[in-house]
Amino acid sequence: MAEIMSSEVVVIGGGVIGAATAYYLCREGAEVMIVEADDLASGASGACDGFLSLQTKALGAHLRLAMESAKLFPSLVEDLEVDIEYRPCGGLILATSQEQMKELRARAKALSAEGLEVEVLSASELKKILPEVGKEVKGGSYCPLDAQVNPISLTLGLAHKAQEMGATILRGCRVENIVVTNNRVREIHTSAGSIHSRRVVCAAGIGSNQIGKMIIVDVPVLPQRGQILVTEPQEPVLPHIVAGAEYLGTKGNLQALLPAEEEAMKLGLGFTAEQTKSGNFLLGSTREFVGFDSQTTPEAMNAIARNALRFLPWIKDLDVIRSFAGLRPCSPDGLPILGTVKGVKGFYLATGHSGDGICLAPITGKVLSELVLDGETSLDISPFSLYRFK
Ligand SMILES: Cc1cc2nc3c(=O)[nH]c(=O)nc-3n(C[C@H](O)[C@H](O)[C@H](O)COP(=O)(O)OP(=O)(O)OC[C@H]3O[C@@H](n4cnc5c(N)ncnc54)[C@H](O)[C@@H]3O)c2cc1C
Repeated sequence: MAEIMSSEVVVIGGGVIGAATAYYLCREGAEVMIVEADDLASGASGACDGFLSLQTKALGAHLRLAMESAKLFPSLVEDLEVDIEYRPCGGLILATSQEQMKELRARAKALSAEGLEVEVLSASELKKILPEVGKEVKGGSYCPLDAQVNPISLTLGLAHKAQEMGATILRGCRVENIVVTNNRVREIHTSAGSIHSRRVVCAAGIGSNQIGKMIIVDVPVLPQRGQILVTEPQEPVLPHIVAGAEYLGTKGNLQALLPAEEEAMKLGLGFTAEQTKSGNFLLGSTREFVGFDSQTTPEAMNAIARNALRFLPWIKDLDVIRSFAGLRPCSPDGLPILGTVKGVKGFYLATGHSGDGICLAPITGKVLSELVLDGETSLDISPFSLYRFK
């Protein structure tokens, strides 16, 4: 007979969002079980960059959420047992035309009005902090609060700390059904048996739509593929995280910053570069809706490599040693979906983080823990409600 388990709270998904939620719940003394179909960080959280970029967030609630999340990283550095490779390095966005410069200037002004320090740099000012950029680069914007982290270490660090505080982690265990009676979650059916629980957090990434169906709620999360190239390691030479203005265009669907070339448009190409603690460069990336296909493609590899040379020509001397693709859990507006659902007490959503889940993980975990345990949050999460789509 299948085992019957119980837990005060069940968290579905062992990605960065599930791990952060479990961590903050455990800190408040809750009894938590993480149920993960595969392994920790086996989804998007293990196949992504580590940008903690504030200046790329949408103005308003999204930016506020990211700024609150940024404040929590130093405490995680202190508290987690592993080195999460957090580097408060600042971030650059590079423009390759005067039109893009104009957009970056307007964004810098709007972001500054919302309390985020962003400086616009001319080509000569940029050269002082990033000397060898491509000839096309006309300048950029710099945000000193942008930072970098190792997403896999962050996910594992949060999950293992939660475990140390008492959480149970079920790996290779798929949630197959959620039993709701009298409008309340009662039981979670998994491939390893049933779990009695009155509270369940859906942090299932691209599996969230499937989880929603179990309680007859449409959770509009679609997989969006992103591809990355990894180079051989080098001595530290890139002091900041760096993106091209077109990255902002494809990420936020900003018409004025979308790529001009048809192939780049089709791939959702936007330049990103970061140098990891081990010295490798991660070069990205794409934004493609191709269902659940997480294969890399030669077209994208070529396009990413060519695009990187426009911004950092010296990168041509480094060998590419591998590539990978991840599937972002994408919501219709690119903002996370956080909160309760109508008519099902004890069911909580922490999903749809799209291209920002690493950055938004700490604040997501914190507010979800407050919502699950107290029924209210210290930060207004109503802009992230599921019902904004109805
Ligand atoms: C190429 C790329 C670059 C990125 N760069 C950045 C970046 O620089 N900065 C940033 O902030 N974000 C970035 N992101 C986005 C970030 O990776 C995601 O937003 C984040 O990882 C989502 O975390 P998650 O925990 O919601 O999902 P996931 O990490 O996908 O975790 C969900 C987990 O749920 C499990 N699951 C699903 N269904 C079930 C089920 N039925 N039962 C049990 N378990 C289940 C899955 O196995 C999976 O492990 C990037 C993404 C990609 C693809």
